[in-house]
Amino acid sequence: MARLQSILVVGGGAAGWLVACYLAKHLNAAAPGSIRVDLVESPGIGLLGVGEATFPSIRGTLSAIGLDEGALLAGADATFKQGIRYDHWVRPPGSEGPSSFFHPFSLPSQRPGSPELLPYWLLGGAPQGMQLAEAATMQYRLVAQGHGPKRVGDPDYQGPMNYAYHFDAARVAVVLAEHGQKLGVRRHEATVERVVLDERGAIAGLVTQELGELKADLYVDCTGLRSRLIGDAMQSPFRSRTDVLFVDRAVAMQVPYPRPDAPIACYTIATAQEAGWTWDIGLQQRRGVGYVYSSRHSDATRAEEVIRRHLGPISDKLKPLHIKFETGYRPEHWRGNCVGIGLTGGFVEPLESTGIALVELGTYLLTHLLPTDLDDMERAAKHFNAMICARYERVLDFIKMHYCLTQRTDTTFWIDNTDPASIPETLRERLAAWRHRPPHRLDFVTDLEMFMPASWQYVLYGMEFHTDLEPMRSSYPRMEEAQREFAAIQQVSARAMSDLPKHRALVEQMCQAY
Ligand code: FAD
Repeated sequence: MARLQSILVVGGGAAGWLVACYLAKHLNAAAPGSIRVDLVESPGIGLLGVGEATFPSIRGTLSAIGLDEGALLAGADATFKQGIRYDHWVRPPGSEGPSSFFHPFSLPSQRPGSPELLPYWLLGGAPQGMQLAEAATMQYRLVAQGHGPKRVGDPDYQGPMNYAYHFDAARVAVVLAEHGQKLGVRRHEATVERVVLDERGAIAGLVTQELGELKADLYVDCTGLRSRLIGDAMQSPFRSRTDVLFVDRAVAMQVPYPRPDAPIACYTIATAQEAGWTWDIGLQQRRGVGYVYSSRHSDATRAEEVIRRHLGPISDKLKPLHIKFETGYRPEHWRGNCVGIGLTGGFVEPLESTGIALVELGTYLLTHLLPTDLDDMERAAKHFNAMICARYERVLDFIKMHYCLTQRTDTTFWIDNTDPASIPETLRERLAAWRHRPPHRLDFVTDLEMFMPASWQYVLYGMEFHTDLEPMRSSYPRMEEAQREFAAIQQVSARAMSDLPKHRALVEQMCQAY
């Protein structure tokens, strides 16, 4: 048996360093005789530098690698994220009807013995006009009033509300790099110029100008959109899904706060625009704002006009960064002795922040499926590829749901998004079932889903989808109890406000020791 002894991660962005940290921690890379983890990053090729919003799974990942939460906040300009507010997704500005809805990270409240609230909300049990997140969670009100998800003394990565982070993508890579080296990752600076393949098509070595040839038993490609190993060298095909999700360009700007103590939004704001949507993310020192759009429905000049109009005069002196990307993935993320993780393996557009979450998944799968015997590589690759492809397809369905339920007909972008030909059959089937009953956990195979049933419910009903429960009303006899619960949630959330600090104050206090 040929034992796996060395892993070389290529690329030092968020993906490369997360993989390296996780592998090093799990494989105890610093101990004598353990599997060696090296990382090589190019001194000349920069990071993409966007990717500022995360998903709650990041807390488990950062906790697993042993990084202090305060170190993350202080080092990466990070703040807390408790969900996403969607503006103008259902109807364009100026129309009659609600203009936004909230997708919180916390689940709908359900105390032991009390009824599940969703059916009663669908049957009109909540106060008139209250959206699901508002009626069924405390998080909605806390976030609207600018409160953070935890108290200063709460343990790292824990708090009463479910949360993730907003952070500076370049600075987070630096924080992880420092931490990774403490865990035993050996860092090298060099640019991979050429990939040498052996007679079986596996990678035999990487040629760099600075360090000559680099060799390992397993290569993890984290070279981002360049995809030097798994794409260029291993020729693993890319499966485009722009037939489902149209946006493929972004223009981003870093926006200063008007004053140093300006409040920081504790959620991402996703505002629908004529050919896509804008993200607005509050970090400690600045906001990150970007317009993601479809090149079939707009162009770079018009996109810059849209983002500048969205930001107003503050954008006059700001320099835009233009980015091209494609939604899709490599069905073979892992081929031979090479695994692609991060943008190199695939990307679903930034809505719902699945980029880094898919890096976490790839990292987790790789670490736990890693064969000790090199001859077992093919089996591990097959398992890895099946799991990650299934996740991509579920994520695609979830993101497409945001678009295809729109009532907007003001531009071709929104009209095209409702074309049934662009909606995957798996999503169409689910939507058809949910006309008569709400989403249930049995609709989802937990290990393959990134989003909990509650997330599907918040977005589905936030987009004003109609589930007709009237014929089933008699199956829900606990309306009075449910109404008492709705009232109790409002009272408890009013009390929680005095317990949880304002967002900026929380972040600043947690950074103080670092
Ligand atoms: P990169 O950050 O590009 O890093 C690539 C690394 O490879 C660099 O270190 C570079 O030096 C190195 N490299 C490249 N070529 C070579 C070579 N030849 N030799 C040696 N080293 C090399 N994700 C989220 O989770 N949330 C978001 O809100 C989000 N928003 C996004 C918005 C847009 C418009 C886009 C396009 C992506 C977004 N993402 C988001 C995805 C996110 O940016 C990435 O998943 C994340 O930053 C990881 O990137 P990466 O490490 O794969 O690539």
